[in-house]
Amino acid sequence: QERIIIVGAGQAGGELAAGLRKQGYPGRVVLLGDEAHPPYQRPPLSKGFLQGKVALADLYLKPLATYERFDIEFKPGTRVEAIDRSTREISLRDGSRLGYDKLVLATGGRARPLSLPGLDTARPENLFAMRSILDVEAMRGRFVPGNRLVIIGGGYVGLEVAAVAVQLGLRVTLLEAAPRLLSRVTGPEVSSFIEQLHRERGVEFRLSCEVRGLELDEARRQVRGVDVACHGVPERLEADLVLVGIGLIPNTELASAAGLAVDNGILVDEYACTADPAILAIGDCANQPSAYTGGRIRLESVPNAIEHARVAAATLMGKREPSTAIPWFWSDQYGLKLQMVGLSTGYEQCVTRGSAERKEFSAFYLKGGRVIAADVMGRPAEFMAAKKLVSSRAEVDVTRLGDAAVPLTSLAA
Ligand code: FAD
Repeated sequence: QERIIIVGAGQAGGELAAGLRKQGYPGRVVLLGDEAHPPYQRPPLSKGFLQGKVALADLYLKPLATYERFDIEFKPGTRVEAIDRSTREISLRDGSRLGYDKLVLATGGRARPLSLPGLDTARPENLFAMRSILDVEAMRGRFVPGNRLVIIGGGYVGLEVAAVAVQLGLRVTLLEAAPRLLSRVTGPEVSSFIEQLHRERGVEFRLSCEVRGLELDEARRQVRGVDVACHGVPERLEADLVLVGIGLIPNTELASAAGLAVDNGILVDEYACTADPAILAIGDCANQPSAYTGGRIRLESVPNAIEHARVAAATLMGKREPSTAIPWFWSDQYGLKLQMVGLSTGYEQCVTRGSAERKEFSAFYLKGGRVIAADVMGRPAEFMAAKKLVSSRAEVDVTRLGDAAVPLTSLAA
């Protein structure tokens, strides 16, 4: 019987295993993951789960029993160490080997560590990353009122943790190296909106801020403070805990050690295949051609993991169904829904709509008179229409686009 092995039991791996069965795949499906849990959703980690509002079992994509019911051989706590492409076998940490007919790498990524002298030897107990259930379980006990939390990195994860932390009564300072928040993914209008949203709740910011070092206690087990320089001015910030949220490193080592091409992710074609016809890669770890940008792209989002798993399932079923999906993403901060579609890189004009004060605010990014991306905050009803504007690449009347009284749906030509 043919055997498909999926390495990585995260969002993409979990979706693919179930997707294969839903499409009637008759062979063996083996799902190997090095975490202790069945595939789970990571978005609530920095939101409801950290806040204590979402229970562990509610993170799971499917209850454990479903894998058995779907005849998916799911093995948690199983780390794949190497791929032998000549024999079509993988080796596990316990030394055993497993043969495959098709192998899918869905290995995701790991939190980028802070690189500071001395940190490689010391592993302070109150220095955290935010990637897994284990990470949240490790930090949760310190999320108590009055504790001083320093967050390094003003991306979505850092901002979501800041929101949860101030709501739990912590004193939060967020450090960002760039002059504004989310500078790689949004325009200045949205950065200011988000900064204001957090400032109103008491989050303090240090922008254009360089982290120079961590001050550790004598045993080198606890961080006591963070030494920074903001706009070049040195400052020491006291800390009871520190969260590092400075991005993700894709887990590509298995692929590169097996001689597969890697360049900011495992290189795959539009069908999720690597150059080895027996090996596919999906989700955060994969770098794929994008029908939307015309170039290559590596995305870190749930919608992408789901879509990429769908493409891979089709490929494995002998069909060819490349993705035409447009990248989109969401975030939740203080109960406000932030939804983003498209990529704003290279935009020429930003048109805003709605009111930042009322927390109903959208920003549309235009290039050549067409909407290439949109950030929609607190207006979920508008998001579908914004998605349509981006996907149709419609030319729009800028004045009408900026007028919240004009329905967005009437703008899509
Ligand atoms: P992952 O979910 O990371 O799964 C990969 C799995 O593979 C992991 O379990 C890993 O341990 C395992 N693995 C790696 N190497 C091996 C190996 N050698 N052997 C066995 N197992 C291995 N996206 C959104 O769209 N909206 C959000 O609001 C949002 N919020 C997020 C908040 C947080 C805190 C985080 C961390 C992510 C968030 N994301 C969000 C991103 C989203 O969760 C990821 O894009 C998605 O999980 C990617 O799925 P994946 O399967 O590619 O990778």
